[in-house]
Amino acid sequence: MGIRVWDYLPEYEKEKEDIADAVRTVFESGQLILGDSGRNFEKEFAAYHGIAHCTAVDNGTNALKLALEALGIGPGDEVITVSNTAAPTVIAIVGAGATPVFVDVRADDFLMDTDQVSAAITPRTKAIVPVHLYGQCVDMSSIERLAAEFGLLVIEDCAQAHGARHGDRLAGTMSDAAAFSFYPTKVLGAYGDGGAVVTADPDVDHAMKQLRYYGMEQVYYVVRSPGHNSRLDELQAEILRRKLTRLDDYVAGRNAVARRYEKGLGDLAESHGLLLPSTNLGNSHVYYVYVVRHPKRDAIIEAMHEHGVALNISYPWPVHTMSGFAHLGWREGQLPVTERLAKEIFSLPMYPTLAESKQDHVIDALRTVLAGL
Ligand SMILES: *Cc1c(COP(=O)(O)O)cnc(C)c1O
Repeated sequence: MGIRVWDYLPEYEKEKEDIADAVRTVFESGQLILGDSGRNFEKEFAAYHGIAHCTAVDNGTNALKLALEALGIGPGDEVITVSNTAAPTVIAIVGAGATPVFVDVRADDFLMDTDQVSAAITPRTKAIVPVHLYGQCVDMSSIERLAAEFGLLVIEDCAQAHGARHGDRLAGTMSDAAAFSFYPTKVLGAYGDGGAVVTADPDVDHAMKQLRYYGMEQVYYVVRSPGHNSRLDELQAEILRRKLTRLDDYVAGRNAVARRYEKGLGDLAESHGLLLPSTNLGNSHVYYVYVVRHPKRDAIIEAMHEHGVALNISYPWPVHTMSGFAHLGWREGQLPVTERLAKEIFSLPMYPTLAESKQDHVIDALRTVLAGL
């Protein structure tokens, strides 16, 4: 039995009529870029969040980069974020011309340690980019207090947190602008690349709509400030419209898998030092990935492979130690929690249509492997 860490095919099998209908609708509409499907998706994605505006773009990296640009962040500005994230978070900040400044994460939830933010603030600090990593929201109440006290902008990286809640607020609604990715593996995934920015600010949204379209107001209009080509195509937009109606079901499906893992593996913390993900009080987790922790991570991954289970690491190399970011001047040793986690974390298979029999195989295999370590 080969179990992949993520697989869209079982979901496609359930939804193929709807996906085929979406494809047909777009192909027969006479509009392949910036048409009704895109506009409707933007309206519906904004409405899902109870927020005024949405601009759909070509991917999550550009969503974050354009959001920073739309808020006027660029060269000379420092942006505080984490190194325990997907590299694109940092790529987007660098791409906007700004300088990322890292703070460490907390050892319990692996999210931005908000207690470290104020020490990282300098006269050049312009914004904070909290990353709702793995599907759980950062402590946004603290971020909001810091932003108000120091006059900083906040841009949420929601690429892993569609539908996640912090109290009664949805990820994406607690900042000046929020960036989403619809990369296929994400909680709301397209059949290709996609992204979006939501904001309550009409000026930010206006800037977003120009930035994604060469910097133009409309077709063949004047470019006042050069932008990008970051449009979402109609095909992905129409597929995302259909899938958005099922987002809450995907989240519920992921939570059901998490509950089964907890039930099957919960006792291993005490007996074998396997730490399962924790959900902070008041948060609702959407489990983009199900990240566990054990000091003998590499041996476990190898042994699980022999049991037919593929495991993943999100992420094996902290961004601040990557050679591509050496010019930022960060060194190994500066973010000890992030660096330690990178050596100990791994992810169990997680997607809403993961069969219960496969979940049970993962549980049984992991119990066997840990017992034999
Ligand atoms: C996936 C992801 C991105 C980038 O999204 P793409 O659509 O792949 O460009 C950014 N930040 C985080 C945290 C992500 O997980």
